[in-house]
Amino acid sequence: MSFVITTACVATCDTACVDVCPVDCIQGPIPIEELRLVPLEKRATQFSTFQLYINPDECIGCAACEPECPVEAIYEEDSVPAKHTEDIARNARFFLEQSSLVF
Ligand code: SF4
Ligand code: SF4
Repeated sequence: MSFVITTACVATCDTACVDVCPVDCIQGPIPIEELRLVPLEKRATQFSTFQLYINPDECIGCAACEPECPVEAIYEEDSVPAKHTEDIARNARFFLEQSSLVF
């Protein structure tokens, strides 16, 4: 069962979840290394619309990322709160769009 990052991540982007993921399946609109060049306290303004996403095709459901998130943005797919159910498709769509950019 895949995990999902909800919009609660928007403008936080502290990347704590990335460090614990054993399969490296968490990505954002810009490379993680580039995102980390911006100090944490400036990310809310500089990345005000950004969030990270979990690739549902690669996530192994290990749950390591969930407790790392300071804003409780990560849920197992079956446990996503009702107000965030659209985020399940948004995570998948992000990676579909990324792959279509390759061609
Ligand atoms: S549940 Fe595990 S594999 Fe899936 S995104 Fe979180 S850390 Fe990565
Ligand atoms: S730990 Fe939470 S807030 Fe930080 S990048 Fe991951 S999902 Fe977003």
